[in-house]
Amino acid sequence: MSITERFAELENTRRSLAEVNADPGSLIIERILSATEAIIKGRRTVLAGTNNYLGLTFEAGGIEAASLALHEQGSGTTGSRMANGSFASHIALEQAFAEFYGYPGAMIFSTGYQANLGVLAGLVRAGDKVLIDAHSHASIYDGCKLSGAEFFPFRHNDPDDLHKRLRRLGAAAKGALVVAEGLYSMLGDTAPLAEVMAVVDDYAAYLMVDEAHSLGIYGEHGLGVCEAAGILDRVDFITGTFSKSLGSLGGFCVSRHEQLNLLRYGSRPYIFTASASPSTIASAHWALQQIKTRPQLRERLWANVDRLYQGLLKMGYHLSAAPSPVISIRVEVLTEALSMWNALLEYGVYVNLVLPPASPDGAPLLRCSVSAAHTFEQIDTIVSAFAAARES
Ligand code: PMP
Repeated sequence: MSITERFAELENTRRSLAEVNADPGSLIIERILSATEAIIKGRRTVLAGTNNYLGLTFEAGGIEAASLALHEQGSGTTGSRMANGSFASHIALEQAFAEFYGYPGAMIFSTGYQANLGVLAGLVRAGDKVLIDAHSHASIYDGCKLSGAEFFPFRHNDPDDLHKRLRRLGAAAKGALVVAEGLYSMLGDTAPLAEVMAVVDDYAAYLMVDEAHSLGIYGEHGLGVCEAAGILDRVDFITGTFSKSLGSLGGFCVSRHEQLNLLRYGSRPYIFTASASPSTIASAHWALQQIKTRPQLRERLWANVDRLYQGLLKMGYHLSAAPSPVISIRVEVLTEALSMWNALLEYGVYVNLVLPPASPDGAPLLRCSVSAAHTFEQIDTIVSAFAAARES
């Protein structure tokens, strides 16, 4: 395919979304007002599609920490840690992550996408086998591709299918890498990690879990679904992002293996990119501290989840999973999903529109993400908008 043809193909994609007046990628947040509100199309809008699960983006403590770092350390690092050295604040945040999980080490990356890319491409290579949940995020697929390893999707959240596929690998199953997520971002379902871990152990394989959407939300201490499943002493690698519950930008990997640190010498997405800026590191560090010290944030989030979930359920909507901070409504007919998404915006509520093939179930989704910063009044506004949008 020539580049001209490729551009034509992309133009078709753009046009098909514009024609149905539903291109979330071109939506403009004219003014952001708080963690839960913005001006969109000139209208005050409740944000219910942000991944701002703990609602920390506008808290004074985080803004002060970021401002101080900006003043003291400048606006950017202007280079990679392997070439230019680390700022003390990068090291301190890594220590804070290691301490939080009770592991010997942690590595931070410039984004969550790069954390998955960096860990996968750093750990496995051509000739190695990786089994990934079929609903894995693009960064997991892309990390596998970058690594050159042979990778096989197993049926979503199906430890029996994982078992079967590992068995088929024969001797190569030993030492294979299995990848799952804690909370899946589209349907809002959690992985059966205790069962997945048992299968991984049966074959002496390794397990990596992406807790991008579950850090700060699951487990007694907010460590994620691995903590809730009781596998923290056995899971091999946990990755995650600063861009959701931590309200910043960046990614991390923690591990019970001391050798994790060595990955710095062989992970291209870690080596060949600039390290995160001091202000983003400072706000992420501050937010991590909030997860440790303010369990009431999680309690507030779960109260909001319950209120929204019950409200939508009462209206008879088809919800994709049990209650979680991601509540997705499955809409069978594409045109109905598009008109509902637009109507919700008219009623002052922003949710994510997820269209096939991005929606893993093959049907369009109206995806809500709940925040601890939502008030009950805002949750009720979301519920009422869903009632009105269906009528319109
Ligand atoms: N993993 C998962 C499961 C995600 O949903 C995302 C972001 N949507 C990422 C990784 C990447 O995180 P980031 O936005 O920090 O690059």
